[in-house]
Amino acid sequence: MNCLLCQRKLSLTLKFTELFLLKSPENSICEKCLATFQTISEKHCPRCWKDGSSQVCEDCQEWEEQGIIINHRAIFHYNAPMKGYFSNYKFIGDYRLRAIFANYFKPTKKDKNFTLVPIPISDKRLQERGFNQVTGFLDAAKIPYGNLLLKSDSVKQSSLSREERLDSKNAFTVAEDILIPKKVLLIDDIYTTGTTLQHTVFTLKEAGVTEVKSFSLCR
Ligand SMILES: [Zn+2]
Ligand SMILES: [Zn+2]
Repeated sequence: MNCLLCQRKLSLTLKFTELFLLKSPENSICEKCLATFQTISEKHCPRCWKDGSSQVCEDCQEWEEQGIIINHRAIFHYNAPMKGYFSNYKFIGDYRLRAIFANYFKPTKKDKNFTLVPIPISDKRLQERGFNQVTGFLDAAKIPYGNLLLKSDSVKQSSLSREERLDSKNAFTVAEDILIPKKVLLIDDIYTTGTTLQHTVFTLKEAGVTEVKSFSLCR
């Protein structure tokens, strides 16, 4: 078998510790590629997992003033190799690549009693891309989830500046005729400005969800 990222031949004699790091033997990338992805350090904002300081960060303090206290968790830095990965997965559309990180989306013991809700993409985006990258991960790892949220068409977030993104209005709504759970764990691929999170948390709470936390693979 070859590495899904660099196409080098994978050695099939992985040590037990290596299998553990890869989380799953099906995760078919080589050690060299795996090492280019950087995990977030222990020292991070306790609310949004911004790396570098264990204090509540300025963004989170500002949101608190607006009545939003987020409860987020992330694993990897959105560094250059990770950007490369997502560009192949999302924009070039190599669906096989979801297998690499799928198992990182598995809920932990603390997530018991929470309904997993993937961040949706708009119908237009779905047609262009052919898949939602977040449900791609969840499906690959056979993790159950509820499609509670809908997203209307708006300007592509990645084509906006940081300021424009922060200003953009809420494009999320709750799906009709659906039972609203009390506790929701929002699932996303990348956390950048936190705007998506603020909007979705707001929408869910308006709909009657009492507790919302969130997870993204990257931050
Ligand atoms: Zn490789
Ligand atoms: Zn923070």
